[in-house]
Amino acid sequence: MPDRSESDSRKLLRRLRDTLAVPGKGQDRLDQITHLIADSMGTEVCSIYLFRDSETLELCATQGLNKSAVHKTRMKLGEGLVGRVARTGMPVNTADAPSEKGFRYMPETGEELYSSFLGVPIQRVGEKLGVLVVQSRTARQFSEDEIYALDVVAMVLAEMTELGAFTSEENGIRALHKQPVMFRGGSGQEGAAEGRVWLHEPRVVITNPVADDPLTEIERIRAAVGELRVSIDDLLAAEHLDKEQKQVLEAYRMFAHSRGWLRRMEEDIMRGLSAEAAVEKEQSAARARMEQVPDAYLRERLSDLDDLSNRLLRILTGQGKDTGAEMPDNPVLVARNIGPAELLDYGRKLKGVVLEEGSVGSHAAIVARALAIPLVINAERITTEALNGDPILVDGDQGVVHLRPEETVARAFRDKIAMQAEAQKRYASLRNLPATALCGTTISLHMNAGLMADLPSLEGSGADGVGLFRTELQFLIRSRMPQRAELAALYARVMDAAKGKRVAFRTLDIGSDKVLPYMKPQDEPNPAMGWRAVRVGLDKPGVLRMQLQALIRAAKGRPLTIMFPLISEHSEFQQARAHVLREVHRERSLGHPVPDRLEIGAMLETPSLAFAPRAFFELADFVSVGGNDLKQFFFAADRENELVRRRYDTLNLSFLTFLEGIVARCAETGTPLSFCGEDAGRPVEALALAAIGFRTLSMRPASVGPVKALIRRVNLAEVRAVIERARTEGAESARPLLMEWLANQGPG
Ligand code: PEP
Ligand code: MG
Repeated sequence: MPDRSESDSRKLLRRLRDTLAVPGKGQDRLDQITHLIADSMGTEVCSIYLFRDSETLELCATQGLNKSAVHKTRMKLGEGLVGRVARTGMPVNTADAPSEKGFRYMPETGEELYSSFLGVPIQRVGEKLGVLVVQSRTARQFSEDEIYALDVVAMVLAEMTELGAFTSEENGIRALHKQPVMFRGGSGQEGAAEGRVWLHEPRVVITNPVADDPLTEIERIRAAVGELRVSIDDLLAAEHLDKEQKQVLEAYRMFAHSRGWLRRMEEDIMRGLSAEAAVEKEQSAARARMEQVPDAYLRERLSDLDDLSNRLLRILTGQGKDTGAEMPDNPVLVARNIGPAELLDYGRKLKGVVLEEGSVGSHAAIVARALAIPLVINAERITTEALNGDPILVDGDQGVVHLRPEETVARAFRDKIAMQAEAQKRYASLRNLPATALCGTTISLHMNAGLMADLPSLEGSGADGVGLFRTELQFLIRSRMPQRAELAALYARVMDAAKGKRVAFRTLDIGSDKVLPYMKPQDEPNPAMGWRAVRVGLDKPGVLRMQLQALIRAAKGRPLTIMFPLISEHSEFQQARAHVLREVHRERSLGHPVPDRLEIGAMLETPSLAFAPRAFFELADFVSVGGNDLKQFFFAADRENELVRRRYDTLNLSFLTFLEGIVARCAETGTPLSFCGEDAGRPVEALALAAIGFRTLSMRPASVGPVKALIRRVNLAEVRAVIERARTEGAESARPLLMEWLANQGPG
């Protein structure tokens, strides 16, 4: 790169910075900047377009075009050449703009006089802020060097826009991160919350995009990259890395050692950017590429680069995770993604969680569910928009988030929360009453749990016991395999907290989506139907046996209930059960106390088990339907796939008929039966389950009240009759008739 242009652009950046250092009105600054850039680039025109809202760009300042068009000329994202630059995040460089595809003629600007056009995005790590354009009369292609120079200037403008340098009342340019924004994501955990944003990884703020002494900056960036490389090597040297983690870190190392990356940043610095701004410029470019790349693997790699840039920025600015900011009251955690252990560290003090990524089955979602914290997933770009302390409303039922909401929205939302709180109060008054329907049938309501933190809900919710204790959570939140003694102590505390109420401990249900960080992941084409749950336990019984020993020791002679997940055939249950009996025998021979009553049950989560021989139902002490899995296998609809997971109704009569078959099989042998999938906690679904013969339901603690309230209002025989009527009428689902019938039942 020629020295001359380097110092030219340094000079321009310095003039820019000086202009911005003088206090002044936002509009005056913009005008001066366009003048400066046109002058320095030797073009007749320089214009700055900024986003008015997420879809509309507005000409905010110009040197060379008609001034009367300023704040009048607008275009949509993707419209015209300016809109194209904004949409793609890539420069457009043409010698003959009017004949370029997509060119939009804007007569009010007088731009027909200008032939060459160079536009570059003004963007900041994935946040599109506007477009910077230079134009000239002579038909010429701008050189690589000129594009590059303009890109560097745009970077500084992005930082300045972010810092609010152009905001002013009179030009109508509103400060960023001030407007209300709504995000439509997915529901990870139901519930509504109002609070303030707490960013898991706060944005790094750059206040010095322009630097005086490039050599100092180069030293800084080299030192920071050196530190980054060492930190990655340290991570790589850590124990307990699985193949996938190693691969990711290897990719990090490759990027961190990439000469191209460092060279590009050094070139930016030579142009006048500070080390931080140079990192961010690279990061923005990677983000823009990420949006364009259809290939998932390449996108992943670009996202690695993005992550690496963040680390580098933190090293350079010293802004670690601990920025000294204080967590606001009612914090709502906002993050791209978060690990289960980190989420658990925040614990119940969070009012809600919003993630850019995530899936319903992700570990974070599992923990959020266990903590009963409303969670919205796939809220795209929220980490770019949200600032620490911003007011935020989380609607976990709808998967919607309102950031910096308008007062009217906030008011309506508060009404909804108040109504829910009111209902909770009503439910609390039912706490000590049984879930007895008008016909006299009593349904035993239990709760699902998975963390020690859940147990206080046992008393508060009025549940009769814990129908499903998901033991895998304790494994997921650790970075190494827990020891037997640790588990025994934990299970003992769970039993203590249950105060004699029954706790059904489900043995480790890993595999599929739940991959332990310290276990070798399997490369399976279809993990939900793969080597998971009891299949792993039976094939590699070491962990299963250790867990069984821990449970027996925890019981210290008290009654113990164990159930096995995903039992698909009789022999699997026989083998699993034999493991329990063997461990009991072993403990007894070691002189340890053994449970005075032992219940060993199976989760019915695959249709095959419903057709198992009678001997299975005779052998099982109880059967618990894992409706989440059973439904996905019954309808062949992946429970984690947003495209299909809500497609089939639980009240579909085929499914209800199938469930009735299970009820009948258990009745034949007198095998106690329960239902512990999410549907048990949905009042209408719970009603249908009770009506077709389920006498025990296990659900999230917060659902016990609503389900109990509804059951107490109805006669289950009548509900059953409604389901029958739907069947006779040939309906696909019993829901419409059931809802209609319920609506006619009057208030509860
Ligand atoms: C189920 O599948 O219904 C169940 C309760 O287990 P999990 O959701 O943990 O797979
Ligand atoms: Mg399951």
